[in-house]
Amino acid sequence: MTSPDPRELRAQGLDAQDPLAAFRERFVIDDPELIYLDGNSLGRLPRASRALADKLIEEQWGARLIRGWEEGWMFSPERIGAKIAALIGAQPDEVILADATSINLFKLVVAALRYQPGRSTLLTDNLNFPSDLYVLESAIKLLDAGHQLKVLPSPDGIHGPVDEIQAQLDERVALLTLSHTTFKSSYTYDLAALTAAAHAAGALVLWDLSHSAGAVPIELNAADVDLAVGCTYKYLCGGPGAPAFLYVRRDLQERLESPLQGWMGRADMFAFDLQYAAHAGIRRFLTGTPAVLSLAMIEPGVDLLLEAGIDALRAKSIAQTEFLIEAWEGSLRDLGFALHSPREPAWRGSHISLGHPKALGIDQALIHAMKVIPDFRAPDNIRLGIAPLYTRFSDLHETLSRLEKIIRDDLHAEYRQTTPTVT
Ligand SMILES: *Cc1c(COP(=O)(O)O)cnc(C)c1O
Repeated sequence: MTSPDPRELRAQGLDAQDPLAAFRERFVIDDPELIYLDGNSLGRLPRASRALADKLIEEQWGARLIRGWEEGWMFSPERIGAKIAALIGAQPDEVILADATSINLFKLVVAALRYQPGRSTLLTDNLNFPSDLYVLESAIKLLDAGHQLKVLPSPDGIHGPVDEIQAQLDERVALLTLSHTTFKSSYTYDLAALTAAAHAAGALVLWDLSHSAGAVPIELNAADVDLAVGCTYKYLCGGPGAPAFLYVRRDLQERLESPLQGWMGRADMFAFDLQYAAHAGIRRFLTGTPAVLSLAMIEPGVDLLLEAGIDALRAKSIAQTEFLIEAWEGSLRDLGFALHSPREPAWRGSHISLGHPKALGIDQALIHAMKVIPDFRAPDNIRLGIAPLYTRFSDLHETLSRLEKIIRDDLHAEYRQTTPTVT
């Protein structure tokens, strides 16, 4: 008989004590052998969402037809937005669901730049999500008013350039915009401290919460944050392509103008007046008809997160990322892996990036030979995403064992040439 692996025993013990363990059963898990560590890219399907989808199609769309707009569809963007507000420390009327994150970012960036005449600098960093940078560039092009984008480089590719950001914040800066948790390294900024620093320089702040919402505590009101956007298909489990959210602090709502006026953001839209007049409050940031069906799918996941509580989710997420990092220190480091995430829990979100010169082959071997789904981010990062609602410590132990086996037995060799289109 082989003696039990101490890491496996530890994982089993931690799972047995996990106060959130029962939430896993609230998700559709058709293949119990598949280890899913990509909840930071696409969250699992809540069982309640599957039931809701049937109901929506048959009872609402099928039976109620156009009457559905009166019966809840029209205000579902703000009704479900209010629940997300509770997850991110905002008032219920400060968050609304609309469009994709990139599009919401565009609307809010243009609105913010127009609100700050005389200030021409946009500050961000090179850890930001590339789409965010594309959006900033297109906002600058559209405005054609001489704005300048400064993309401050991370000192090591892992940590945010905090000192550099502080040094650059002056009277020329119109807007500071960053990902709260960065998609590659998982570095998490001190949202309150940087918001205060930006405000001291008279700049507005816009946080992209896509990799934080539902996993990391966020207090937008307490930090007096101006603007935020975020995604609902990651930790929020809203489903592929689910509409994103946007936040505008209440006192700014009437002072900012959406650059994309449409009937859904108009006051009294059914007057069909040919002249636009913005709706009061957050609704002015809507443009066209909301995607009612995919919007509705966001609610069950948000309800699960609210029921679990963000502090319990964060405590488990930290315990799990620590578990991975301790295993990296214990064995993976000697197998050629580098830690591409901050070592200090306060400075990271809910995923861990491991660097390896053969990362893409290892990622493909995990997926195709080992039934583990992580993801890969160029050039050499394997991301292991922890969704505390359904990730078990034993999943992490198993993943680590399979990673060790892939390296020891050179199982990644045959995947070296693979170039998948979606990683
Ligand atoms: C996932 C993610 C997005 C997604 O943008 P979409 O326009 O909704 O596709 C945006 N920003 C960040 C930081 C992300 O992690």
